[in-house]
Amino acid sequence: MSRIESAVQSGSVKALLFLPSGRRLWTVVGKDSEYWTDPELGFCSCKDFYFSALTKDEPCYHLKSVQKAMDGGRLAPLEMSDGEYTQMLQALAKDAASQLLR
Ligand SMILES: [Zn+2]
Repeated sequence: MSRIESAVQSGSVKALLFLPSGRRLWTVVGKDSEYWTDPELGFCSCKDFYFSALTKDEPCYHLKSVQKAMDGGRLAPLEMSDGEYTQMLQALAKDAASQLLR
């Protein structure tokens, strides 16, 4: 099984829907951190994205995993309140920073 398939099947790919605004976030739980992935912007907060996706124009496996989960209709969004949006972004940004500074 590929890394992408196992991420999708193990439920590592998560879609969050914030209500009532309808804002969405996608995350992929990796080995030691959770990545903020946005398939609409083609963005991911992982190291691979910064160091290879931008230069090779090849999406990282998180982006591919989210895309695959979306295509397969296997991404049921978790509903959260708008009040949790900022907290969620801060937590993800903190994870991303610790990855990049490693
Ligand atoms: Zn990534």
